[in-house]
Amino acid sequence: MAEIFFYNTLSRTVEKFVPINDNMVGLYTCGPTVYNFAHIGNLRSYLFEDLLKRVLLYNGYRVKHIMNITDVGHLAGDMDMGEDKMEKEALAKGQSAWDLAAFYTAAFQADLKALNILEPDVWCRATDNIPEQIGLIKTLEDKGYVYKTSDGLYFATAKFPEYNKLSHLPLADLQEGARVEKNEEKQSPTDFALWKFSPKDQKRQMEWDSPWGVGFPGWHIECSAMSLKYLADNLDIHCGGMDHINIHHTNEIAQSEAATGRKFFNYWIHGAFLNIAGGKKMAKSEGNFLTVKNALIESGINPLAYRYAVLSVSYRKPMEYSEEIIKNAESAFVHLRHQVSDLGQDVGAVNPDYKYKFLEVINNDLNFPQALAIVQELLKSEISNPDKLATILDFDQVLGLKLGGEIPAEIMALAQEREEARAAKDWSRSDELRQTIESQGYIIKDGSSGFTIMMQ
Ligand code: AMP
Ligand code: ZN
Repeated sequence: MAEIFFYNTLSRTVEKFVPINDNMVGLYTCGPTVYNFAHIGNLRSYLFEDLLKRVLLYNGYRVKHIMNITDVGHLAGDMDMGEDKMEKEALAKGQSAWDLAAFYTAAFQADLKALNILEPDVWCRATDNIPEQIGLIKTLEDKGYVYKTSDGLYFATAKFPEYNKLSHLPLADLQEGARVEKNEEKQSPTDFALWKFSPKDQKRQMEWDSPWGVGFPGWHIECSAMSLKYLADNLDIHCGGMDHINIHHTNEIAQSEAATGRKFFNYWIHGAFLNIAGGKKMAKSEGNFLTVKNALIESGINPLAYRYAVLSVSYRKPMEYSEEIIKNAESAFVHLRHQVSDLGQDVGAVNPDYKYKFLEVINNDLNFPQALAIVQELLKSEISNPDKLATILDFDQVLGLKLGGEIPAEIMALAQEREEARAAKDWSRSDELRQTIESQGYIIKDGSSGFTIMMQ
């Protein structure tokens, strides 16, 4: 297997990727808080994670990908103060928090589809994993990491000496950052809520019984509980946007390692922000943010043009967004699609030299700007059109730009079924499925890393 290198936020260096188990990589990506639509900044993070996952798959790894849905416990202030974002928005809209969560979860899943982001293997909601979170808090309590205040249970960060190992910041700086919101009862400003009590004078929509009283989990504990539940033996890679480094992921590491006594994830990989003009981070709290619907679909821009724009900037560098930038990306993307359709319909063989070059750059910490340059180099080369096409369709398993055309879901389902028949060595069924696919106007080709499919 080829070597893959990733920049690990834990060590602040580019490291060779070595999974815990050879052929199964565990990947946990922090999912959305479903009180509003995802903005295209959030989606930049999910796109970077999709590219990371596709690189692993392209290299022949099996990936177990977990994504959580935060439907409770994320408070308006990151430091465990303020109202619950879900309950606040539900009240404002006159809806139940459960309906709100269901609506925005479906909207988020539609956004992923529009951007051709592969679905995780497991979607897990915070509210479906309350016993797991309570269990983890109980373990922390038994080990002496927890103290109680009038509004909840807190993790005592002073008891976890490696608290700053992800942020690499002096403790005083982390404490300074956390001091924004005052909570006089906390022993240290960096301490964070594990469980919050329901207010005495108010009935919350989402609340549960616990050994400590009725309430709801703090935001960070869900990701620890679900990572440990689903990836117990595959704690390989944990991702998110860079804003998660100093608080959310730092707290996840502290509580998980304190509870289990062993290392949490080996690789922490973070994507840089999408900024609007002037270098300001796009944020839900700013109110006026751009979504797949209002910035792309309603302006007649194919969402995959945004995927192309994201591919053309290193995931570790800030990316600026403006109408002009997306228009330029759209032209480049449309041009590329034309270049590919001009190659004709004969699918030849994947060119090994170009495949090697492509693999080398994507395995070098996801260098997709360079990968796009290699696609152009290939298009200009002397290689035959059928071989160019085969090579580009092979690359597109990672790029995800649907360069072979838009394949309808039912055709993809037939292709998937055929893949399963092939795996079971049921050749007559697999031939039958190929014929069905071809009779509907699509060509399917098998390669070393799976099948490619395109319009005839
Ligand atoms: P949230 O729904 O706020 O928890 O954020 C979901 C994901 O989007 C997290 O991984 C964040 O780190 C990421 N994120 C938030 N704002 C941006 C932005 N402007 N650019 C890129 N990623 C972001
Ligand atoms: Zn998380």
